[in-house]
Amino acid sequence: MKRSVLEERRASISDERGDGKGRGICCEKESVSGAVSQRACVYCGARVVLNPITDAYHIVHGPIGCASYTWDIRGSLTSGAETYRNSFSTDLRETDIVFGGEKKLEAAIDELMEKASPPPKLIFVFATCIVGVIGDDVDAVCGAAEAKYGIRVIPVKAPGFSGTKMHGYRLACDAIMTLIKPHADAPHVFGVNILGDYNLAGEMWIIKNYLEEIGIPVVSTVTGDSSYEALTRAPSATLNIVQCAGSSAYLAERMEAEFGIPYIKVSFFGVEDTTASLLRAADALDRPDISANARAFAERRAAEVMPIIEKYRPRLHGKRAAIFVGGGFKAISLIRQFNELGMETVVVGTQTGKKDEYEIIAELVGDGAVILDDANPAELERFMLEKQADILVGGVKERPLAYKLGMAFCDHNHERKHPLAGFEGIENFVKEIHTSINSPVWGYVKGDAA
Ligand code: SF4
Repeated sequence: MKRSVLEERRASISDERGDGKGRGICCEKESVSGAVSQRACVYCGARVVLNPITDAYHIVHGPIGCASYTWDIRGSLTSGAETYRNSFSTDLRETDIVFGGEKKLEAAIDELMEKASPPPKLIFVFATCIVGVIGDDVDAVCGAAEAKYGIRVIPVKAPGFSGTKMHGYRLACDAIMTLIKPHADAPHVFGVNILGDYNLAGEMWIIKNYLEEIGIPVVSTVTGDSSYEALTRAPSATLNIVQCAGSSAYLAERMEAEFGIPYIKVSFFGVEDTTASLLRAADALDRPDISANARAFAERRAAEVMPIIEKYRPRLHGKRAAIFVGGGFKAISLIRQFNELGMETVVVGTQTGKKDEYEIIAELVGDGAVILDDANPAELERFMLEKQADILVGGVKERPLAYKLGMAFCDHNHERKHPLAGFEGIENFVKEIHTSINSPVWGYVKGDAA
């Protein structure tokens, strides 16, 4: 590997067939200091998972800067409460750092209980970096508030420096378990929980409708359009289906171990994965009638969407894609979607991919593709230019990078306003890729157009 790659990052990047490509790639590790990782911090990981609990109050115990991470940049939709769209902070200042912030946290909870409408039933308290340094007893403050007000006040001790974004996911999953464990004895009912979908642009509703149409009741939507009451039902479900495995597989594992609920991983991006996910969910419930419904439903919906893929394929055939997304499962689905369109994935990376996911990625891409774990902007820039990518699929942090390089971009993260999941999402995705990649603006940017 040449310049733009730090020596310490070499093992996390593979650009050749052999033991480095997918197989053996260094991942699930803390970011290299000074590498300017694209990855979000521990607190952000926890906030991603818990923020879509729509009737929860979220207090960020830390400096005001941490509180900038709000609903506004994680646009998950609600069919009920809108409480989660507000963000509260203890706004710790220098004197609080010197003398401690516990009193400020107590006062923040008291103020919420006095003034907030609707009255809080559930408060999450996120302790961020500086609280990890000064050592406020957040557990004690939250415990005292629970006793005083008779509501749930759950601490999420997530200093950004205490690990990776994955660690934040686990902390959020532990917080959900703390919340739902008292309801573990509820009688089991036939139906599934959906984990790891954040209802971006209503995607949870699309998936829920599919499942209900083929005869699978949805007991609880744990991480999207969720509520305190809905979460308490989760321990009674028959099966957990996990959309974003990176953030929620750990919760599914705990629910299997502690409540006896098995789980399967799914992905509702693209024809192939949406179809396979519906069939696997039906098969896991061991109901031949539902499996038959799933097959018929998927065949019908795939037949409706295939003409759209056929229409745009000639305009996209041979184009080159770069992918940098949060988890490995989404990257895998995206590569399959690009393959279906006749496009080649030349660069693919994730923030939190796992070894087995990189193995699958390595099998799906061509020999020359570059695979990166926990990349930084310099690496993405270098490899996208080297591989002559036509489009980058990523999130809010990757958008400016693409545009500065004069490259098309597709937002596949939490800011977008249109669904990309399910069969509806396939149409949106294909049209967006075409509109962006074939826009005449890139010719002007590169000076090709007159
Ligand atoms: S790294 Fe620390 S200070 Fe920065 S947002 Fe995360 S928790 Fe807050």
